Amino acid sequence: DSSPQYVGRFAPSPSGQLHFGSLVTALASYLDARHHNGQWLVRMEDIDAPRCLPGVDSDILLTLECHGLHWDGSVLYQQQQHTRYQAKLDSLLADKSAYFCACTRKQIKANGGHDNHYCRDLGLTAQSETESASDTRSLAIRLKLDCQLDAFDDGIMGGVDKTGALSVVNSVAHSTSSGLVEAERHTVKRSNNSNSNDDSISASRVTPLSTAPEDVVIKRSDGLFAYNFVVALDDEYQGVTDIIRGSDLLNITPLQRAIYRSLGCYVPKYGHIPVAAVSPGRKLSKQNHAAPINNKNVLENIVNGLSFLGQGDYHANEFEDATQLLTMAISRWDRKLVPKIAEIIVGKHESTY
Ligand code: GLU
Repeated sequence: DSSPQYVGRFAPSPSGQLHFGSLVTALASYLDARHHNGQWLVRMEDIDAPRCLPGVDSDILLTLECHGLHWDGSVLYQQQQHTRYQAKLDSLLADKSAYFCACTRKQIKANGGHDNHYCRDLGLTAQSETESASDTRSLAIRLKLDCQLDAFDDGIMGGVDKTGALSVVNSVAHSTSSGLVEAERHTVKRSNNSNSNDDSISASRVTPLSTAPEDVVIKRSDGLFAYNFVVALDDEYQGVTDIIRGSDLLNITPLQRAIYRSLGCYVPKYGHIPVAAVSPGRKLSKQNHAAPINNKNVLENIVNGLSFLGQGDYHANEFEDATQLLTMAISRWDRKLVPKIAEIIVGKHESTY
C-alpha cells in the first residue's frame, strides 16, 4: 500500500480558550486519527500574533490533556517557523512562482478584483521598489495560482463543489440546552437544481467563493506571512494526510487545495464536521461569550461531544475516566454517523464571567 500512514492534526488559534465547539473539533480529529491507527498532532496557529492572547496556548493544551486527548510529538508553534516560511518564499520568488505586487486594496476594488496579469508581468523586486518608493512595506507577495478551483469529496459531508457548497444540502439541527442533539437531518436537497437555494439554510451559511481564483497573497504588505500560505507549508512539513475540522472552513477549502497544489504540497483529505452555534448563523465563539471548557466536567464534556458528533448515547457514570471513555469511542467511531449539516444549534453555552 503506497498511501501514507494517517497523520491528523488539531490546529487551534490561541486567541481564546477552548469552548464546546472547539473541543468537539479536537475530539473529532482525535477519534478519526486514532480510529485509523494514525498519529494526532497539535499545532498552535499563532501566525497572526496580534490576535493571540498570552497564556491561552497553555490553557488549550491543559484542557486537551485533562480530556485525555494526548497528542504525538511536540506542539508546533507557527511563530517559531519564520525561517522555514521565508526560505520557501525566497525559492518561490527565485523561480518566479511568486511575485511582488504593488496593488493597493483600493485599486483592486476599483478594478473589480485583482488582475493576475498586471503585477505578474511587471517584474517588481524589493530592490526596485526601494528605489522608486519610500515605503518598501507597501509590497505584498503573491503566489501564481495557475489552476482552477475544483470540486472534491469530503470524507464526512460528501460532495462539495468548487465554490465550497455542499452538493447535497441538509438543513439545520437543534439540540437541547444540555447540548444533546435532539433532531438531526431534515430535508435533503440537491443544489444542482438552480432555484433550490431559497430555504437551504446550510448553503447560505457556507458562503461560496467567486469563480476563478486570483493569485493569493502569501506575504502581506505589512510583512506578515499569510495564514493560507503557512497552513499549507505546515501540513506538508508535518506530513498531515487527513484534516478533520469545522464546516465554517468549507468555503475556503477549494482555494486551500489549489494553494497546496501550486506550492507542490501534498493535498490532504478533508472531513468537515458541523459547527456548534448559539443560534442560526452564529457559531459559538469568544465574541459571543462561549463558556470556556470546564476541566472538572471531563466525562460530561466528552459525552456531549460524542452526542453532537452523532456517535450515540454514552453515559458519563459508566466510565472511570476519560481514557476509558475515549478507548470505547475510538473503536466505535464512525464518520458516517456525523450529521452532514453545516451547524447544530447547541443553545447558549454562555460564559458566566
Ligand atoms: N486555526 C484554525 C481555526 O482555529 C483551524 C484551521 C484548520 O483546521 O485548518 O479556525
